[in-house]
Amino acid sequence: MEKEESEKNAYTAEGELAGKVALVTGAGRGIGRSIALTLAKMGAVVLVNYNGSRERALEVVEEIEKAGGQGETIGCDVSDYEACGRMAEEIIHKYARLDILVNNAGITKDNLILRMTEAEYDKVLDTNLKGAFNTIRHLSRYFLKQRSGKIINISSVSGVAGNAGQANYSASKAGLIGLTKSVARELAGRGVCVNAVAPGFIDTEMTNALSGKVRENAIASIPMGRIGSGGDVAGLVAFLAGNRSDYITGQVICVDGGMAM
Ligand code: NDP
Repeated sequence: MEKEESEKNAYTAEGELAGKVALVTGAGRGIGRSIALTLAKMGAVVLVNYNGSRERALEVVEEIEKAGGQGETIGCDVSDYEACGRMAEEIIHKYARLDILVNNAGITKDNLILRMTEAEYDKVLDTNLKGAFNTIRHLSRYFLKQRSGKIINISSVSGVAGNAGQANYSASKAGLIGLTKSVARELAGRGVCVNAVAPGFIDTEMTNALSGKVRENAIASIPMGRIGSGGDVAGLVAFLAGNRSDYITGQVICVDGGMAM
């Protein structure tokens, strides 16, 4: 009896998400791509959302299938409320369920506050914060019906600690933390966990766009002395998506090599 119990709780990442359906927004490249590949490896059917990068999203699905997994692309601009409604309907029509929602889609439009335009502010808030509201608003009813589910919002250490030149981005990512905690409280009684992941400085096109000097300074501020990878973030998302984290909700966990401690 004792042995059976311990085996039930043994950590087996492979197959842990078998039978689950996951939507990862902005999964054609960067961190979203790593998350999609990881969840698929764990057995989930992964819906690879894209906005501009259709070809790259198709390549992610190809990679998933080559590794023996299952996935498909789903186009949608997450900042568009109505379009998110249509995406939700499409998913439920086809799969009749959704178990994991990863709100990863995000953009930057950096500028000092004195120079930041209204358009730069609005665009970043619409994508990073309202985008997550849009998907959660349209999909949470299914999580509630199922009485289970995992919502994981990709925030940022900029949302935890602020960052010069990123007032719009930091506001959106701090807003995501408030959204996470409020929705976590609303859905907790029905077995739905809602958490935020706050990456530090991760090697993607977003950070490659920064100047050499900015990158150098950022890396110098990381106690672990190295830039993170998409896989570093995906590892935590995998844990939060699976059943080993069933008693964890409303949390913000940094994946940042110690940057924000
Ligand atoms: P990338 O710039 O590499 O990728 C951004 C992704 O977001 C793309 O897949 C893009 O899709 C998607 N996206 C942007 N706008 C929309 C939209 N309107 N609708 C749907 N998808 C959209 O960024 P990262 O991979 O680096 O970042 C992923 C997430 O992690 C973001 O939320 C970012 O803020 C966060 N983060 C990143 C850090 C880093 O150091 N890289 C640090 C902390 C947080 P498409 O190309 O199809 O338009």
